[in-house]
Amino acid sequence: MRSLADAQAEPYWLGRPGAPAPAEPLDGVETTDLAVIGAGYSGLWTALLAKERDPQRDVVVLEAGTAGWAASGRNGGFCAASLTHGFDNGLSRFPAEMDTLEKLGRANLDEIESAVSRYAIDCDFSRTGELNVATAEWQLKGLEAEHREAVSRGVSADLLDRAAVRAEVDSPTYLGGLWDRDGCAMVDPARLVWGLREACLALGVRFHDNTRVERITHAGAGLRLHTWRGRVDAAHVALATGAHGNLLRRLHHYVVPVYDYALMTEPLSEAQLASIGWRNRQGIGDAGNQFHYYRLTADNRILWGGYDAIYYKGGITPEHDQREATFATLASHFAQTFPQLGDVRFTHKWGGVIDTCSRFSGFYGTGHGGRLAYAAGYTGLGVGASRFGANVMLDLLTGSRTELTSLKMVRSKPMPFPPEPVRSGVIQLTRWSIANADRHEGRRNIWLKTLDRLGVGFDS
Ligand SMILES: Cc1cc2nc3c(=O)[nH]c(=O)nc-3n(C[C@H](O)[C@H](O)[C@H](O)COP(=O)(O)OP(=O)(O)OC[C@H]3O[C@@H](n4cnc5c(N)ncnc54)[C@H](O)[C@@H]3O)c2cc1C
Repeated sequence: MRSLADAQAEPYWLGRPGAPAPAEPLDGVETTDLAVIGAGYSGLWTALLAKERDPQRDVVVLEAGTAGWAASGRNGGFCAASLTHGFDNGLSRFPAEMDTLEKLGRANLDEIESAVSRYAIDCDFSRTGELNVATAEWQLKGLEAEHREAVSRGVSADLLDRAAVRAEVDSPTYLGGLWDRDGCAMVDPARLVWGLREACLALGVRFHDNTRVERITHAGAGLRLHTWRGRVDAAHVALATGAHGNLLRRLHHYVVPVYDYALMTEPLSEAQLASIGWRNRQGIGDAGNQFHYYRLTADNRILWGGYDAIYYKGGITPEHDQREATFATLASHFAQTFPQLGDVRFTHKWGGVIDTCSRFSGFYGTGHGGRLAYAAGYTGLGVGASRFGANVMLDLLTGSRTELTSLKMVRSKPMPFPPEPVRSGVIQLTRWSIANADRHEGRRNIWLKTLDRLGVGFDS
């Protein structure tokens, strides 16, 4: 496609100046109070909050690559208050504690905003809210039902009819929308990573990049992390490895790596931007089962991602970061949504792995006799929720019951995925059924209804 002809095959966010120089790999033996494995948002928030809770605590972060190279540096930058991959998903799984989860999620987003300001993190944090748009009648009914439920629980959201939604952002495909004005911020994801890392350094956190932890064994009362050229003996460990984790066998049952893809346009001219409106600069998602997410950057590019969620039986490899068929699909959907932008070209195309679990929202736990805590399974909505997960991990490591560790969401686990080869078959059948539902007014077939009854699913 012409619009994709010059697109560079790399994540837009990570390719810009400002990335920190990598820290020296671990070479030798170190001891610490808390070792954090992984320098994405989960690991960085854990290190930062650990230091904020107790400045005397020694903290070291071990990262297999460099900070934010994985999902945290290449995502859409929707930093949502939701801890449950959206209100509806949370309500269906944790109805009794949904009010608490909403309250904790809003507080978490407020805390992110205040940390960004406190540490002067230059990440274009902007609390624009999120607009969920309907592009088919059945989606409109879903948004109306979600609005009724949200309002009855005191959650504010504005239901927009066709004219009102098009007055916000002008696409001929929009039939209506639900605008949560406060529950989501747009961030520059890589700069958030880089800023969090800088804040950690300022509080005395030590980093070793290009340092993969290969094994965890017991050492006295603590744990020993083995790397290629050294080891760390730690009293406690926080495992923050996202979709990449193979250090704790049980995580493999709960998490599947799913590839999500995105495009970035060139900066829009003033006239191009005026042709679509978008003065309030909300993040936008459409309400299909296979949904797109899109947003403006500070320099008025449009990031356009989502729709396909691809599971590869072979697991994670750099080749999967590029998928031309998905890029072509995304580009054609962009053209349908914004025919006014027919001349706009894409400058970047990329993919990344999300840690999908069958309940679409994070899960938490401990291992090695309570000396290790983990958080994973954010499934495409971990930018904000990973800070909450970091607090959960730190609470779990205290061994005491807290408000967070008492939550059903924290105490329960998602339904595990079956092992291969059944896993691939089940995921392909589910993906096919989801696409079919989108083509047939949202009608769910017997397979999807069965999964719904069991409380499991597949999403990005
Ligand atoms: C294309 C895309 C778009 C997305 N859009 C959004 C969005 O708009 N909003 C949203 O909320 N979420 C979004 N997400 C999801 C979000 O990016 C993730 O939920 C979040 O970044 C997860 O952070 P993390 O720290 O848990 O994992 P990661 O960022 O994956 O970090 C894990 C780190 O652990 C390291 N690691 C793994 N194993 C080891 C080991 N053995 N030793 C040392 N280090 C190790 C890895 O190298 C990696 O750096 C998106 C994801 C993708 C891929």
